[in-house]
Amino acid sequence: MADGNVMTNDDAVQRAREMIAPADRVVVFSGAGLSAESGIPTFRDEGGIWERYPPEDFATVPGLVRTFLVRPDRVREFVWEAVRDVTQAEPNPAHRAIAELEQRRSVAVVTQNVDGLHREAGSKTVHELHGTLYALQCTRCGRELDVSRAELRDLADRLVQPLPKLGARTRLIRLILPMVRRCASCRGRMRPAIVFFGEQLPEEAWSAAVAACRACQAMLVVGTSALVHPGAMLPALAHDVGAKVVVVTLDPTFAVSWADTIVVGPAAEVVPSILQAVR
Ligand code: NAD
Ligand code: ZN
Repeated sequence: MADGNVMTNDDAVQRAREMIAPADRVVVFSGAGLSAESGIPTFRDEGGIWERYPPEDFATVPGLVRTFLVRPDRVREFVWEAVRDVTQAEPNPAHRAIAELEQRRSVAVVTQNVDGLHREAGSKTVHELHGTLYALQCTRCGRELDVSRAELRDLADRLVQPLPKLGARTRLIRLILPMVRRCASCRGRMRPAIVFFGEQLPEEAWSAAVAACRACQAMLVVGTSALVHPGAMLPALAHDVGAKVVVVTLDPTFAVSWADTIVVGPAAEVVPSILQAVR
């Protein structure tokens, strides 16, 4: 973006509206920053969860297994924090403005978030690239099972107390058992339908996301550092097919070749301000 430095934020908001307004098909590509103002901390930002729970120990399956074996109470704490924040969160004005845009444009939401807030705000077409905390999936036959907010709340409640020193691992397994229950079809082991680092993205969501990005005329990228694959790939793809790409971020140093406009500010303010003017 050649003239990024000379634009004021108001100019950038206005420009963002003008880029989205003529588009019939819009893709919204969201990351953790979109839900920050719903009370779910991002992982990577300062004070974020990765500072306390290093991703190599908590965000990969082998890492989690290792941590479970040596420090089970840390795993309890991590799961408790992550689940608690999600079960307490409500959609914020940005989620709602995105859902409302569906009444005026054809909108596909592609999200890296696992918090279910786009659907809860009313968005109908949502491709969840990193899965969702609101489902379990069978590791053997792939069958999916919905998980309710009440079930997640129960899980968070069970995990509040530190584990006893003796028998900590057995106790933790018992506490999380409903999340790793046996599959009703094949008796295989179920697990939360979320994508850990190093795992494949769900194929269906990924191909739907790619198709939407190829077909869109404008893309709104909200609250993602675009560091994690496919963070940068999808906006670059949209840009390549001629779509205008608008970025909303808190990071004033955000710089990428595929952004046509960058608006720096909190998503819950900036996104409604852009989208509500798109009639
Ligand atoms: P990320 O790399 O996408 O970074 C977050 C980005 O959001 C940063 O660029 C930051 O500047 C921006 N941001 C922060 N607050 C914002 C705000 N109020 N308004 C606008 N922008 C804001 O995400 P991450 O935190 O590194 O997480 C990595 C992955 O972990 C995610 O892709 C996701 O799968 C998972 N995660 C999910 C959730 C969730 O479901 N809500 C929360 C944290 C992490
Ligand atoms: Zn099964």
